[in-house]
Amino acid sequence: MKTLDQLQQTARTITNLRPAYREILDFYKEVFRVQEESLKDIQLPPIMIEPGLLKIKQKNELPLIDPSEFLIDLKAAARTFADICGLAQALAPGLSANARFLEKALSRTAFDLEALFCALLNRHEKAVQDISRLLDVPAAELSLFGYLSMAPSIRACREQLEIYLAGMPELQKGYCPVCGNPPDLGFLDQDGGQHLHCSFCSHEWKSGRMGCVFCKNNSKDMQHYFFNEEEKEYRVRLCDHCHRFIKLVDLRQMDREFFPDLERIATLHLDMQAREKGYINEGAAGNEAYH
Ligand SMILES: [Zn+2]
Ligand SMILES: [Zn+2]
Repeated sequence: MKTLDQLQQTARTITNLRPAYREILDFYKEVFRVQEESLKDIQLPPIMIEPGLLKIKQKNELPLIDPSEFLIDLKAAARTFADICGLAQALAPGLSANARFLEKALSRTAFDLEALFCALLNRHEKAVQDISRLLDVPAAELSLFGYLSMAPSIRACREQLEIYLAGMPELQKGYCPVCGNPPDLGFLDQDGGQHLHCSFCSHEWKSGRMGCVFCKNNSKDMQHYFFNEEEKEYRVRLCDHCHRFIKLVDLRQMDREFFPDLERIATLHLDMQAREKGYINEGAAGNEAYH
């Protein structure tokens, strides 16, 4: 079992290798600690899926739930929101002014956190924009703080829902079998097997290595990748059919512990390179607020 200490140690290792990530990783490793602590307080009823509905979903390779069905422990999420605002003020200069404002607004109940969570879970961009205008805080920052505070509840729900996936065949679709969101990261295990990591609920699932993970296109002249000589553990797969990209971490080339959340953040330069080449990854878009 990987511990928080190992995560902190791995963050330090990455920071030594790539000092440009020091600030952002110093912030995120504290965020992960706060989220881990919050997980212990979370109390949520299980999300039940009727057997008939489960059969239909399995037959049609549909995800178990829609993201709007995730349950959020509001009390725990509000505490995490305040904690993360505090961390941003101390460790993330680019976010600190708005973090201070949001923390104050929350303590005066001047804004409705539940409405923000609801808008994010339902992907109601207009509702997020409305809250953004009302508070004069960029929507990307609101989404970042909101999502980071909901993440422990989402994780608790996801771990409970994974029971429903036991014994099911591998889903050969380019989305998460739990919540239907796209992967933001992939990795190759010690045997070369490819796994994907959900951008929303962090579920990990096995996927075939052939072709694009999103659209399954497998034509040789459409599938490319790039990598940097000095970072052999990473490669970025590009698809000319759907114009998406996915970052892959090759665990056989890496001698540190693998924490998807850390590697996802410590590879933002690869997202930038892929975007400059004209490719997108909807699942990875949420990290942009930091910059
Ligand atoms: Zn998911
Ligand atoms: Zn594709």
